[in-house]
Order: sequence, then C-alpha cells, then structure tokens
Amino acid sequence: MAGKLLTQRLVADEEGIARAVGLLRGGGIVALPTETVYGLAARADSANAVARIFAAKGRPSFNPLIVHLAGLAEAERYAELPSVARALAAAHWPGPLTLVLPRRPGVALAPAISAGLPTIALRSPAHPIMRAVLKALGLPLAAPSANASGSVSPTSAAHVLSTLDGRIDAVLDAGPCSGGLESTIVAVRSDGRTEQLRPGPIEVGAINDLAATIEAPGQLARHYAPGKPVRLFAVAREAGEFLIGFGMVGGDVTLSASGDLSEAAARLYDCLHRGAAAPQPRIAVAPVPDQGLGRAINDRLRRAATHEGR
Ligand code: AMP
Ligand code: MG
Repeated sequence: MAGKLLTQRLVADEEGIARAVGLLRGGGIVALPTETVYGLAARADSANAVARIFAAKGRPSFNPLIVHLAGLAEAERYAELPSVARALAAAHWPGPLTLVLPRRPGVALAPAISAGLPTIALRSPAHPIMRAVLKALGLPLAAPSANASGSVSPTSAAHVLSTLDGRIDAVLDAGPCSGGLESTIVAVRSDGRTEQLRPGPIEVGAINDLAATIEAPGQLARHYAPGKPVRLFAVAREAGEFLIGFGMVGGDVTLSASGDLSEAAARLYDCLHRGAAAPQPRIAVAPVPDQGLGRAINDRLRRAATHEGR
C-alpha cells in the first residue's frame, strides 16, 4: 500500500548520516542499519515520534520496543542493572544482546516503549553507522524491525522499502546486515534471575535459563510471514514450491550451500523475501540443524510457517 510520505533514500556517508540525524531530532522516523536487521528508529524521549513507529508498522500497542543506546552508562539512567545484567552487557555490548530490565521510575521516555510493563528493553548495537547516528544525536532511539508488523524482517534497504515506502521519512542504506537475525533477548529480574525471552545470535542459555515462557509480548506465534504457506524440513521440492536449500539440499536459493549457520542467519530473510516475490504459490525450506545459531534460525522459521493469525 502506498503511503503519503516521500521516503528519502539516504546513503550512509557523512551527509546521509547528518540528514538522518536531523530528521530524527525533528521527530521523524528513519530506518537505520544494525548488525542484526534494519530498525525503524525514532527518538525514544518523544511520545509523538514513537507513536509514528507504531502507526507506520501497523504494530499492536501491546508489543513493546527495544531502546538502542550507546552503552552501559546510558543504560543506568533508564533501568536498574543487577550485577548479572552489568556482566552480560560488559561481555556482549556493543552487540546483538537485548536486556529486559526493571525500568527506573520517572524516566523521561515515551511510555509506549514499555507497552504498560514495568520493564524496559535496552540494547547497544555494534553497527558503526548506527553508532555514529546515536553519537551525533545524543539520545536513545526506539527501534523495532523496519517492516510492516508480522511480515518478514528486513536485512537490506530494499527489504525496508518493500513494506514501508511512503510510510517513513527515510532509509539510511548501508548495504546488507552482517548478522541477519534479531537480537537475543534476556530478561534480568531485580533479584538477578535471568530468563531468555527470544533466542538469537548470542547464546546465553548457560547462565540461568528459566526457559520458555512467552512473556515478551511481541513473540506472536505467527511472525516473519512471507504471505504464502511455508513447509519446513523439506528435502525435495514438491509441485508449486519455491525451495530454500541448506547444505546438501539444493534449491531455488540456498541459506548456505556449505551448511554454515552464520551464513544461513545472514541470508535467511533475503531468502524469505525472494520466496515471497517468486511466482510459486508456496515456499519450502530445507532442514536446518537445531543447534547453536540454528536454534534461532528455526525459531524464526517456525513463526514464518505458522498459519494461525495472532
Ligand atoms: P522487534 O524489535 O521488532 O524485534 O521487537 C522487539 C521485541 O522485544 C518485542 O517483540 C518484544 O517481544 C521484546 N520486548 C521489548 N520490550 C520488552 C519488555 N519490556 N519486556 C519484554 N519484552 C520486550
Ligand atoms: Mg520485528
């Protein structure tokens, strides 16, 4: 659906970064590259700017946003950090780890970010362009994935524009994302207990994984949906299928011909976008081993293949 804004295509050079920062400072919404996927950013201290994220994505208001900031010092201003949270941040920031923490009372951030929860999700991203924007702006940025709610996450500027062109102020194009899967989300309670809320690139299960409650409200069963049926564990193509291969299973495209899980993570959403755009009415995906990064890949594939609505 065409929106009514003219979405600027910005190149991630000095001038493009300055223009993105100017738009954000003025309350605009801009898609920015991170090492995981492209995020749709707005200044986190502005209720109006944050409301525009929800409107552009068609995101339900019960689904909270991750706040991106420079590092630990900024995090301390918005959340209580039990020592285990400090240790996790020290080990994995900047990087693809989001910490859900008790929110400090009275922080000057848009309430919609927490969707009514007493917690706040914080991450310090590693992507140099995202860090340059954060530094120049000097403010935390709320940024969910830069795609229409429920659709496949974006790992390129073209993916962003495929669902948000005309609905956002700009996209800052820095080429494809290197990681390709959303951050690991870990909740740290005030008593220091931890719980993994979403599997991702960083494996933290060893710490104290209280496992599998669906507490992160955005963890809908159906998500990352390419808009057509998806069959998993396919070892061969059936009639009418666009096959996404892995390892020995070839296909119309492959996650990784050599069976490399990092490559598969980086290519996952591009393969799903290609499947969505292909003439075949259905998508099939080869089996991916359920270990290491494969756990996070299979989590996203299961949601892409789920038929029930939210
Ligand atoms: P996205 O950035 O689109 O991957 O979505 C961010 C996800 O972070 C949401 O779907 C939530 O599941 C999770 N999240 C953000 N804030 C919180 C929070 N305060 N508590 C639990 N989960 C959160
Ligand atoms: Mg998302």
